[in-house]
Amino acid sequence: MKKEYTYVTCDNCKDWKEEYINQAGRLPCRRCNDTHQVINPKEILCNLCGECMCPDYENEQGTWYSQEPHGLYEASVTGGYESYHLFDMNKYTFSFCELCLRKLFVLCKIKPKVEDVNLGTGETTEIDWEDDQIPYEYRIWEGNGGAHQAYLNKMCNAVKECPNRALYTVKLSDEFTEHCCCEEHQSRWDNTINAELVKFISNVFKPFL
Ligand SMILES: [Zn+2]
Ligand SMILES: [Zn+2]
Ligand SMILES: [Zn+2]
Repeated sequence: MKKEYTYVTCDNCKDWKEEYINQAGRLPCRRCNDTHQVINPKEILCNLCGECMCPDYENEQGTWYSQEPHGLYEASVTGGYESYHLFDMNKYTFSFCELCLRKLFVLCKIKPKVEDVNLGTGETTEIDWEDDQIPYEYRIWEGNGGAHQAYLNKMCNAVKECPNRALYTVKLSDEFTEHCCCEEHQSRWDNTINAELVKFISNVFKPFL
């Protein structure tokens, strides 16, 4: 089934100045290849869940969609002569959004290799799968209000569902935050330069500060 898309103006090059556009040797717009048209981001869908692959944000005009699909966009695989589960010479093209990729990774018996990439030097450092997945689960927990609720319950929120009471509140650049931790998890803040641990301040006392 052939997909028919609608197109919108490319955000990346729409504000380029005339003198830049006319510059000799200029690279074409990486997003639209100077066509000034890109696929309507709302129509860029994940094959697995069917949801939009472009992150959206709320602003004054309503919902704004990034024009950049996130995830594995238009990957393809072609079956070969010895293929069994794919057919020889059939090319399969598909896109998976980041959420579906995360779910697939979790299902993997052998986890994907994860590397921290330094964009400046191109150097990569391998990191354990758990050191990627655990912060991800924390992010989701925090996003769902789990960290805030832990703070209200006077519990450590440095890691997801820590069973310990909060002993310290984290001050960031002299501002009191809802981040709090137990003895065991205070090292979580060791590498944050502007962080300072003070005696725990519950939300009951916070208004008086
Ligand atoms: Zn463009
Ligand atoms: Zn998906
Ligand atoms: Zn803790």
